[in-house]
Amino acid sequence: MTSSTDRIDRFLAPQLRALQAYHVPPAAGLIKLDAMENPYSWPDWLLNDWLDTLRNAALNRYPDPAANALKSRLRDVLDVPGPAGMILGNGSDELIQMIIQAVAASGCVIMAPEPTFVMYRQLTVVAGLDFQGVPLGADFTLDKDAMIEAVAAHQPAVVFLAYPNNPTGNLFDREAIEHLLSCAPGLVVLDEAYAPFADDSFMGDLGCCDNLLVLRTLSKLGLAGVRLGLLAGDAGWLAEIEKTRLPYNISTLDQLTGEFALEHYAVFEEQAKSIRQQRGELLGRLQSLPGVTAYPSAANFILFRVPPERGGVVFEGLKSGGILIKNLAGSAPSLTDCLRVTVGKPEENAAFVSALASLL
Ligand code: PMP
Repeated sequence: MTSSTDRIDRFLAPQLRALQAYHVPPAAGLIKLDAMENPYSWPDWLLNDWLDTLRNAALNRYPDPAANALKSRLRDVLDVPGPAGMILGNGSDELIQMIIQAVAASGCVIMAPEPTFVMYRQLTVVAGLDFQGVPLGADFTLDKDAMIEAVAAHQPAVVFLAYPNNPTGNLFDREAIEHLLSCAPGLVVLDEAYAPFADDSFMGDLGCCDNLLVLRTLSKLGLAGVRLGLLAGDAGWLAEIEKTRLPYNISTLDQLTGEFALEHYAVFEEQAKSIRQQRGELLGRLQSLPGVTAYPSAANFILFRVPPERGGVVFEGLKSGGILIKNLAGSAPSLTDCLRVTVGKPEENAAFVSALASLL
């Protein structure tokens, strides 16, 4: 009799079998500082207005397949240049998948510096393509020469650059990125998931080079539960990528909620401003802890390194004390004893720092 393992062995590629599914640890009852979420909920007046908006949702009908009202609001609020094309995704994760799917049939290479957001590699392998990771340099800066060399050697269809990078939190050197844009044979995707917390963006550069695409998400701004991502760039490229999009990928509830939230963008901008301020304070406190190296961040999280062999102990100790952060030890050689903490509310950050200090 054939077992499911036999069938799986027969039809699934070994590369897929070797992958781990994206794991999200349970967080019930814990101070949740692991996933770069905005810690603030909505004020009551906003919540009530939103519920009124949802009353008009025609849930018996399919959503607007083009999500035109939402797109036009996004264009205004995020300063997407007029001639640029736009595609919306169910989170920016889905847009990363769509970009990779669009080039998959050509059997090409996808590239990114590493360590970086793990889904670039994961979705490339799932699509049956070759992923080339180029190690970051000292202090997690982009190794310009290594990137240029790798681009020349592998001729990637897509280079993903998280700007700021996750999990390191830094913005790569703009001049190095501009150079890559000029020498890359294919697309260079600037993933600006953490744009609300950074001082620079490539959105205004769209139109200067046909191979630049900019990826954004509303997740980190405060709408992680809504699942809304945006890809902007050359209309010719986007018309091709659009072919990989599932019909109605943005639900009616997500469209209405996205439009509503963007009408109140100032509320989220204010929250982002306060998170940036808290980030500065948290960085200072981490840097003052003996044995801790904390890396400056342009995002809403901070990467830090604890003394040798202490990463796992610190992570588990924090968890037992009711605080969940991300343990990066084991995810890359350069991240030994590294952990990543999301900037939370002031009282959450204070609880985290005092628990960490007691574990060192
Ligand atoms: N890009 C980067 C760099 C990320 O860190 C993340 C999530 N952690 C995403 C994209 C995906 O975000 P979402 O699917 O919520 O838009």
